[in-house]
Amino acid sequence: MIHPPDRPTELGPGGDNAIAHAMGVAADEWTLLILRYALQDGVRRTAQWQQVLPISSAVLASRLRRMTELGLFSPVEDEEGAAYHLTPRGAALWPVLVCIWAWEARWAEGHPLCLPRMRHLVCGHQFEPCMACRTCGGLVEPREVTGSFGPSGSWPRSAPNTTMRRRSSGSANLGPGFFPESRALIGNRWSAAMLGAAYLGAHRFSEFQRRLGAPATVIADRLRTFRSLGVLEVLGDADRTDRHHYRLTDKGRAFFPVVMSAIEWGQRWFLAPEGPAVVFRHRGSDHPFSVLLLCSACSRPLTGKEMTVD
Ligand SMILES: [Zn+2]
Ligand SMILES: [Zn+2]
Repeated sequence: MIHPPDRPTELGPGGDNAIAHAMGVAADEWTLLILRYALQDGVRRTAQWQQVLPISSAVLASRLRRMTELGLFSPVEDEEGAAYHLTPRGAALWPVLVCIWAWEARWAEGHPLCLPRMRHLVCGHQFEPCMACRTCGGLVEPREVTGSFGPSGSWPRSAPNTTMRRRSSGSANLGPGFFPESRALIGNRWSAAMLGAAYLGAHRFSEFQRRLGAPATVIADRLRTFRSLGVLEVLGDADRTDRHHYRLTDKGRAFFPVVMSAIEWGQRWFLAPEGPAVVFRHRGSDHPFSVLLLCSACSRPLTGKEMTVD
């Protein structure tokens, strides 16, 4: 299926919903890195990407093909050969990229690469994105956002069956290691949904299992991964798994803008015939919630064009 670059894809009934599509894109490191250079440096050609990324011709070609199918690039032939122009759909991924970048730079331990800090061109300062509510403008914590499934929402429909990474083969496709912990968090089937359940208030093994309907071995495996990444911590009797109380850490809560930005992009560009996958509200208010990212240095709204990396 080729997705249109400038209007939303109309999904078929009953299949993967907007969340599943968004997580499939957000979990692929190469896709994000290719986008980064297209967004910030105007990179359009394979030779230019190969100058700045440690990517093989085969992997780059397969990603550009896939990103074109997804409507993120529109390819054109000119006198210098093939060029890939970023589409409105591709350019709209900047909040996902910025939130992942900031989270990895601050929280990923033993990061194999030192990510440079981002700089806001409007105020000239280094910054991190801060999540605010687009309706009222106030800064929000994860606990201040409520989410409930819409007509196309359910846990199985929100967990992608295949990610871009798994469709490819070979270790070279695993990615260069710029965003290792994000990949560990949302790169597997169920893991993004597990994280979503934690944000919506699941604390016990049985709650995760009941909400997601996933096999117990899968729940146990993802909880182990989240603990080892320091995203969830366990309170309660350490010897009694059934009494474990799982709680998001600061690091886990800090990942929330990544998930919210990705879901928002997904719901903007992938429409299920039944209606939205999830509906968010600003808790304690009378209005819906959607993400506005502010500069931590000057508090102005961020835009994809007004930032650089040091
Ligand atoms: Zn609000
Ligand atoms: Zn600023």
